[in-house]
Amino acid sequence: MAERKISEGRRGLPTTITLAALKRTWHVTYAHDPVRAELREEDGTLAVTSPKNLDVPLALLRQWLRERARRELPGIVDAEARRCGIVPGRLQFRIQKSRWGSRSATGTLSLNGALLFLDLDLVRHVIVHELCHVRHRNHSTAFKVLLARNDPKWMTHEARLRQAAGEVPSWVWPQRD
Ligand SMILES: [Zn+2]
Repeated sequence: MAERKISEGRRGLPTTITLAALKRTWHVTYAHDPVRAELREEDGTLAVTSPKNLDVPLALLRQWLRERARRELPGIVDAEARRCGIVPGRLQFRIQKSRWGSRSATGTLSLNGALLFLDLDLVRHVIVHELCHVRHRNHSTAFKVLLARNDPKWMTHEARLRQAAGEVPSWVWPQRD
């Protein structure tokens, strides 16, 4: 299947956010306002203002993460696509617990904004894996050969990726319980 699965991460509302892929940390401050909901980014601080409802600041942080992904990931996709000589097609960014990346039948490459919590070499690995699906829809031998050519450490990367969900804090995922 053209997708990478994720399992459970850590729990809690963040006072800092570290995006390993960007080697950057933001401090998060929270203020209550009965009618206002906003997130302002200034000098490495995310100032969240919201009503006293846990869902609102979490939604603001997830929105910030998705926007950050939309800003940061296309450049990495372009660089890897050029290196591999593969045209990526349309890109889309989501925050979803189920997978790191996927490629639809119509050729849209979806990447999880939570990838920003992982080391850059794992982000590149996920992107290269999905780029290889442009040529091969399944995980056939031909796919593995292409993957190995473009990501010689793919086996190590896959093993690390299986542990990597633990790097993603739980606030990133909408709670359904
Ligand atoms: Zn795949």
